[in-house]
Amino acid sequence: MFKHLQSRKVLSWLLIAGLLLVSPMLALNTAEAQPQVEVKTIAAGTKYATPMYIIRSGQPGPTFLFTGGVHGNETAGYVAARRIAKEYRVTKGTLIVIPDVNVPAIKAKRRYVSEGDLNRQFPTSKGQQAKSALARIMLDAIRPYNVQWHVDMHEGFDYYKNPKTSSVGQTLIYYPTGNNGALANKLAGELNSGIKESIRKFSVLKYPVGGSFARGTAVTLGARSFIFETSQKQTLDVRVNFQLYMVNFFLRELGMQVVKADAPAPAAPVESPVEPATPDADIPTAPEVDTPDETDNPAAPSEDKVAEPVTPPENVVAEPVTPPANNQKPATNLSQLISNPFTAVEKISGLVRK
Ligand SMILES: [Zn+2]
Repeated sequence: MFKHLQSRKVLSWLLIAGLLLVSPMLALNTAEAQPQVEVKTIAAGTKYATPMYIIRSGQPGPTFLFTGGVHGNETAGYVAARRIAKEYRVTKGTLIVIPDVNVPAIKAKRRYVSEGDLNRQFPTSKGQQAKSALARIMLDAIRPYNVQWHVDMHEGFDYYKNPKTSSVGQTLIYYPTGNNGALANKLAGELNSGIKESIRKFSVLKYPVGGSFARGTAVTLGARSFIFETSQKQTLDVRVNFQLYMVNFFLRELGMQVVKADAPAPAAPVESPVEPATPDADIPTAPEVDTPDETDNPAAPSEDKVAEPVTPPENVVAEPVTPPANNQKPATNLSQLISNPFTAVEKISGLVRK
């Protein structure tokens, strides 16, 4: 009897000791594995109210900002950005996403509404002030986060290489700091490796147009800034796919690694007028054609933008998921990528899916 009691006592102590040892480790692991998502409403209570997602890995690393919806009729940018906000988590640094920058324009499905073109209202050089309330609101919202990288997601009316329209479509425009040019050329090379027809190939340009959001973050925050443009001549699925490919490219290059969200990000606060994005609702099965008006065609590229030849990387890495070559074949791979972009991310960079 005594012996039995003693052994039970020993067992209990062992159990307690074991728990004491293991529990801090468990807690630590949980803390590491759980990215923190904070949703803030920018310009709450105004017509500009829009969610900003701050997705923290809990690990040191770069802060990367993706923005969409500066122009309300450039659907692929904000559809893709909403997907990132809801589904992407990173293992390093911080991801900040503002999917719907210009809510009044998005609601109107127009490039801009009465306030004029938002992408001409940001500071063009250091010391300059933003020229509109919304531009100022956006810069104020992101300033506290030490944004080091920024891609503003846009769309053009046509292909850049179509001499008849000279639309900026299918371009990557970079602000020349660090190795931005090399990165832009690398991404264009990857995208173009899956595009046969030369008119549809992505071009690399430099200097985001004066007054653009990307130019503004470069000159006022010192961010490494880019504008990415898909062409509205493609189906929405293809355009969103290109946008997601671009996001995955940058996160891969910075070693931030995309992991899938275990649970959906918290819903945007109630006062946000933006409908929560559900992939099915946002991606119509039929190709979407945005009604062009005179402001849809961005006319000639700005004078401070210089075309550069795109040189594909010497060793084009074999990609299980290549970007779609054209809008004739959105096909199975594309649908899979749209429904689960992480499949592609895993295949591209061999990452662990959560
Ligand atoms: Zn645009």
